[in-house]
Amino acid sequence: MSRPDPIAMESAAPCPVCGASRCETFVRRTGVPVHQNLLFESMEAARCIARGDLDMRACLDCGFVFNHSFDASRLSYGAGYDNTQDCSGIFDDYLNELARYLVMERGVHHNRIIEVGCGKGGFLRKLVAYPGSNNTGIGYDPSYLGPESDLDGRVQFVAQTYDKRWADEPGDIIVCRHVIEHLARPLELLGAVREAVGNKHHAKVFFETPCVEWILAGRVFWDFFYEHCSLFTERSLATAFELSGFHVASTRHLFDGQYQLIEATPAETPVHAVPRKDNLLEQAREYATAESSLLQKWKTKIRHYAEKGKICLWGAGAKGATFANLIDPDCKLLDCVVDLNPRKQGRFIPGSGHPIVDYRDLPRRGITDIVLMNPNYRQENTALLKSNGIQANFVDVK
Ligand SMILES: [Zn+2]
Repeated sequence: MSRPDPIAMESAAPCPVCGASRCETFVRRTGVPVHQNLLFESMEAARCIARGDLDMRACLDCGFVFNHSFDASRLSYGAGYDNTQDCSGIFDDYLNELARYLVMERGVHHNRIIEVGCGKGGFLRKLVAYPGSNNTGIGYDPSYLGPESDLDGRVQFVAQTYDKRWADEPGDIIVCRHVIEHLARPLELLGAVREAVGNKHHAKVFFETPCVEWILAGRVFWDFFYEHCSLFTERSLATAFELSGFHVASTRHLFDGQYQLIEATPAETPVHAVPRKDNLLEQAREYATAESSLLQKWKTKIRHYAEKGKICLWGAGAKGATFANLIDPDCKLLDCVVDLNPRKQGRFIPGSGHPIVDYRDLPRRGITDIVLMNPNYRQENTALLKSNGIQANFVDVK
């Protein structure tokens, strides 16, 4: 880990969205695990994961943030990859509300839906099964596991990556949640989607992705990790869609500001695509200045808790995996990581090798303190502990 090197500033590497050459490094980390959501059967295997570097740069023109050192060939989004979050009631409520919003407020009914990167298919099933929606759908994801057809044939799944090969698949709604941030060249996917909707001017496209302004504002250092090589501000997301031949209808911030949902339609005439100016740089520089002292503060804090008791993390998704690797890379301070997803329990965090456990194991492990990786789950997790008579203190992440 090192502070950004001034020599790397103003690099000539062009912005993958707008093509501008003025981009500035604001996060640099070496040897980070390339995956955060890959499941490992043993601590040894987890610690042998492929590694890569983070060189997060902000475009001075459009505000897009990207990992200049990203190498897609190191990653493998196969069946061992699991980033489902719907074991949490709070997250399932979030998805139900999003499905309601699309069906009831954005007119996604009597439609053929294509979901790009459908994961295990949970959200597409909600859109198709929504009462009275009369939707049908097809989902694409290389990590999909399950039947090829479901809901009496109204929904189908293809366990492959969505790209131009599937441009002829009929559909008038395209949904894509939490995929574009994993792609080094996001305009390629947007180009494939634009080709797929062709001249269907009634078509609607919905993309959901993290909001990098939220990460920077909260100084959430555990939200910069290898899988997310492309991070968007509201404006850079709009720029990417306009450069790809879409009109931007709206952008909404969701999940307490952590995510953004853009709605776009195919433009009949080419959009006058000038990058929307973004003043992200100041925020990125402030973050860069603060990061190393923030990491040090957390290491001291975790060591303090580990000395007086036993401490764990709650949340074995990308946030928890990144926090564990940054604060306790040798697996000496944090006892374990709790996750509600039964497929993750009994497995190990990529890189650091921390065991992933069920919260019901906490008393047996003697856990006294818990760091909650996403504050949105605090109420839910507090209630789970209380109803099981488990006593432990939640450490404030601020
Ligand atoms: Zn740019």
